[in-house]
Amino acid sequence: MNLRGDTQVYCIIGFPVRHSLSPVFQNSAFEHFGINAVYVPFEVKPENIKVALEGLKALGIRGANVTLPYKEEALSWADHADKHAKIIGSANTLKFENGAVHAYNTDWVGFLKALKKLLPELRGRRALLLGAGGSARAILYGLLLEGVEVYIWNRTHERALRLSGELGGKVVKKPEEVIDRVEIIINSTSSGLKEDDPPLFDYSLLRLEHKVVDIIYRETPLIRSAKEKGCFFQDGLDMLLYQGMESFRIWTGLEVPYEVVREAVLRYKHGHIRT
Ligand code: NDP
Repeated sequence: MNLRGDTQVYCIIGFPVRHSLSPVFQNSAFEHFGINAVYVPFEVKPENIKVALEGLKALGIRGANVTLPYKEEALSWADHADKHAKIIGSANTLKFENGAVHAYNTDWVGFLKALKKLLPELRGRRALLLGAGGSARAILYGLLLEGVEVYIWNRTHERALRLSGELGGKVVKKPEEVIDRVEIIINSTSSGLKEDDPPLFDYSLLRLEHKVVDIIYRETPLIRSAKEKGCFFQDGLDMLLYQGMESFRIWTGLEVPYEVVREAVLRYKHGHIRT
């Protein structure tokens, strides 16, 4: 990439964003197609988010990913939003076109594409969704759209009830209530980010038949237990890559090959000691 007067700028905006892998693989996608564009991280403090979003528009930024904690704000700020983002209630992708801001949610697409690598046909299957935060909303939306029967558990029970009231799914008080009835187990909480986070349920109850997904990018205690049990498992990297590939498609109309973005992340990880 040659920085020039006509270089297009894309970005990720959030707080924090310094550990984000999105710049690594989105830049590899632009390189792959020989597009003169750069994708940069903008870490914006909450008190500055409004002026920062207006700034993206003023500066002629072409597209943005939005991450925690600004996905809801991005949706309400945009001029137009696709129906999925409206139902989910948050946007992780913005496209700036002819002075207007268009908002999309690609988390649910990324999640489904990743899950379908483990289970190509989802209709009629049963899943336990751990968590009721922002990512859980997008995941629940995708699962219900595919005809999956979803049980939701969340640390704060009322939040799970609210989520199920708005989108659907059944709420359970303890994951153990349904562990024997479900085939898919998804951790969408931020528990597991730290090694000493207490387990979300008794992981010794995992069975070989379970397909275990943790949307955190690293090996969590849940993923480790699934591995030990011999279950099919998946960490959050594929979801991240597929949601990013979908954002890239929205911005450019181009489908970047999965191998290109995955290679970029693996090369980056090998070159860095990450804690
Ligand atoms: P939110 O802050 O919106 O939600 C956090 C969720 O985690 C809530 O359900 C919260 O429960 C739960 N939680 C937090 N701490 C604990 C704990 N110690 N024990 C049990 N539950 C806990 O965050 P998001 O939903 O946006 O993100 C969650 C995780 O998913 C993050 O780690 C993020 O990095 C990852 N993520 C990965 C993506 C990918 O592409 N792979 C995409 C988006 C997110 P409560 O309601 O009780 O507070």
